[in-house]
Amino acid sequence: MMSNVLKNIISSQGTCLIIPHQSPDGDCLGSSYTLSHFFERHQIKHHIIMDDVIPSNYTFLKKNNMLKSSDIKDDEKYDYAIILDTSSLDRIGASKSVLDKCASMIVIDHHKTNSFFGDTNIVEMVSSVGELLFNLYTEIDYVIDQEDAIGLYTSIVTDTGEFRYSNTTNKTLQVAAKLFETGFDFESCSREIFSNQPLEKVVLKSSSLSNIELYGNKQVALMIVSQQMLKQHNCDMFHSDGIVEAGRDISGIEVSVLLKEIDSNTVKVSMRSKSFLDVAEISLVFNGGGHNRAAGCTINAPLKEAKQLIIKEIESRL
Ligand code: 5GP
Ligand code: MN
Repeated sequence: MMSNVLKNIISSQGTCLIIPHQSPDGDCLGSSYTLSHFFERHQIKHHIIMDDVIPSNYTFLKKNNMLKSSDIKDDEKYDYAIILDTSSLDRIGASKSVLDKCASMIVIDHHKTNSFFGDTNIVEMVSSVGELLFNLYTEIDYVIDQEDAIGLYTSIVTDTGEFRYSNTTNKTLQVAAKLFETGFDFESCSREIFSNQPLEKVVLKSSSLSNIELYGNKQVALMIVSQQMLKQHNCDMFHSDGIVEAGRDISGIEVSVLLKEIDSNTVKVSMRSKSFLDVAEISLVFNGGGHNRAAGCTINAPLKEAKQLIIKEIESRL
């Protein structure tokens, strides 16, 4: 039983580093939040490794046990690294440097492209790592409280696109109902997450969408966020969150692509599909990964070249 992993940590009073992926999203932040709370309730010594800025709509999930990987000293030792919502090791970025201070690596993830890179891998195709943690908690009869519900609900509501995506199952909704039974303030959570966008982010989105390009017989929407646009609108790259979904929501579009210019020779690609195209497969061609309907990769090329490469790959599959 996979929940033995949590039981073993508690019974051995193991020390842990919780490691979410870089460019943190609602699922990895929400699941880090609840797992940290679970450890607090069991007096387990732990930290969350957070090297990136937390987007402002998720700052309510900040914990004062968060450290940067550079804060972990060379002579520190931990029993477990617990890597959340991460399908391959390159997705944790700078946090990789703390791994050699941990005796064992536990991966808790729900991506079908997961490469099983941990010593222990708990990988299940459920909506979110939040739903997976809920299942692990239930197996060991852990009583979920309102703090847990805040983290778990954030994971689930964000990764399912507010229960709209195909990863939402009957079980997902039952989990959400169980969370509601704790009486946690879900309205406040929703406000924080969805009605709390900085103005500059909304302006960046509007600028990117107003320059939308269509390909593949108008089934492909392509948007760009360049370094020049970030400067112009006083934004960071994490403000590009939500743009690729807006492209996908246009009528007739099957695939939406957002090209994020990291530097003159690096482009981060985000893809979303609507009903049939497997974007995880396309991402794998460029050594990325993800889910059928939401995936991404990095292409080491200038914007123009990256655009041609990705569009060609998509068009060949339509
Ligand atoms: P996003 O477009 O929001 O960055 O990512 C969408 C999904 O694709 C997420 O589930 C994420 O884990 C996955 N993904 C995005 N970029 C990469 C990547 O470079 N490598 C891998 N393996 N997965 C990625
Ligand atoms: Mn996730």
